[in-house]
Amino acid sequence: MAFTPLDKVQNTYDVVVIGSGLGGLTCANRLARAGHSVLLLEYHIQLGGLATWFKRGGHIFDVSLHGFPYGMVKTCKKYWSKEIRNSIVQLKNIVFDNPQFSLSTTFSKDDFVRLLHDKFHIEPSVVTEFFRTVDGMNFYDDQSMTTRELFDRFFPGRSDVHRLLMEPITYANGSTLDEPAITYGIVFSNFMNKGVYTFEGGTDKLIKMMADELQKNGVTICTGAKVDRIVVDQGKVRGVQVGERMIAARGVVSNSGITNTIDNLVGREVFSDDYLSRFDKVQVNNSSCQVYFGIRKGESFADVGDLLFTSTAAEFSSAEMRKMETKSRTFSVYYPKTRPEHPDYTVVASMNGNYEDWAGLDKENYIREKQAMVERCFIDLDRYIPGIREKVDTVESATPKTFNRYTLHTRGTSFGTKFEGLDISRSIFKEIGGVFHVGSVGIIMSGWLGAINYGVIVANDVDAYLRS
Ligand SMILES: Cc1cc2nc3c(=O)[nH]c(=O)nc-3n(C[C@H](O)[C@H](O)[C@H](O)COP(=O)(O)OP(=O)(O)OC[C@H]3O[C@@H](n4cnc5c(N)ncnc54)[C@H](O)[C@@H]3O)c2cc1C
Repeated sequence: MAFTPLDKVQNTYDVVVIGSGLGGLTCANRLARAGHSVLLLEYHIQLGGLATWFKRGGHIFDVSLHGFPYGMVKTCKKYWSKEIRNSIVQLKNIVFDNPQFSLSTTFSKDDFVRLLHDKFHIEPSVVTEFFRTVDGMNFYDDQSMTTRELFDRFFPGRSDVHRLLMEPITYANGSTLDEPAITYGIVFSNFMNKGVYTFEGGTDKLIKMMADELQKNGVTICTGAKVDRIVVDQGKVRGVQVGERMIAARGVVSNSGITNTIDNLVGREVFSDDYLSRFDKVQVNNSSCQVYFGIRKGESFADVGDLLFTSTAAEFSSAEMRKMETKSRTFSVYYPKTRPEHPDYTVVASMNGNYEDWAGLDKENYIREKQAMVERCFIDLDRYIPGIREKVDTVESATPKTFNRYTLHTRGTSFGTKFEGLDISRSIFKEIGGVFHVGSVGIIMSGWLGAINYGVIVANDVDAYLRS
């Protein structure tokens, strides 16, 4: 993929998109297809943002390709291409293993209904009513009911059922039982549609296909380009500043985190007091830790499941899941089928993490804590793949500091902000003409599907603005 170096980009575009996460990529693509000249500037040398991968010891490791809802099929076909859509395949063996229960599921509604009845002995009428309630939740509903209240209403005193329903969502995006039930309900019913899906060929293949599509549609892509400032004058955007370079544009879409966008790229001084007082209430989501295991060529292991939600903690607790020494982790297992053109076995252990726990450590303690985390993952993984230590030839790890370094996200957040961020993101263009934001805000606009869908929504706003 040959991109355009910064000194070769034009001085003026209709739109500049800052950041190449799935939201930024999709927005850029839609705007180019609508006939606008688009420049995509990415700080990292690679496109994709958190939808990323890296190579070590002959292996390719996926960072955030653990599972997304079936909705990706329609979204990718409609807004990207049939070829991208055709590579989406189901993960059929999702495993839960904790002191309260062990089971395997397709993570589809039918299977959850079956499990809740057969294994957890919940009355079918209660299960039906629970699914009817979450399926019926939408964005404009009352936000006062929390997920805890929702669970207590249907499954009082059943911490095992709460765990089954909530643990995967917390693993995915760090949400807690005390957040609005609708944010849980919308994400849960997305997954409950038809199960969990992945992209055959890996993240590298997907992002290459997207980059090809962008270039085919005329988007100028420039990587290794950190935008320092969104330039605003008299309440309107004028362009962006990248080092010494000023690039003019009538519209600027920031895919940088919403907190970065307001505090650092635009600057607080141009916003109204009312907007800033709402912005200051926005909470940033937690970050992640990961340990990556590459299996030596020639070694293999039996099918132990695609996605394993594991914990040795007595009960579900989102606070426990964010601790450095958490006993809860997911293992994403990648078999040779993941990349038929580059067959390999890799395993990625993911944990939630707090930026502050890691950022405050001196170098020596940081290295020691990372080693301790790797060791805990080895011990847990050995329960599912016995003798894993002897099979592994490459181990790497990431902490919230890593996520912060590669994406610049505030406190290395993996899922942007909590729910309040959505209103701030959606209304930024009302504060400054021509400035838009796309990217993880609120659980609904986060994750692979949420980010792509949000990219489409924001592209429509920008298109309308540019034509007005
Ligand atoms: C460990 C982990 C596991 C995950 N697992 C899953 C999963 O299994 N399923 C799922 O659906 N989702 C998952 N996610 C979440 C998902 O990856 C993200 O929600 C989604 O990719 C975010 O897209 P985005 O559009 O918000 O942009 P991001 O991916 O956040 O990208 C923002 C981009 O902007 C760039 N940028 C920032 N500032 C500047 C600047 N000043 N100048 C230029 N560029 C800039 C950054 O470098 C970055 O490339 C996971 C996330 C993490 C961290």
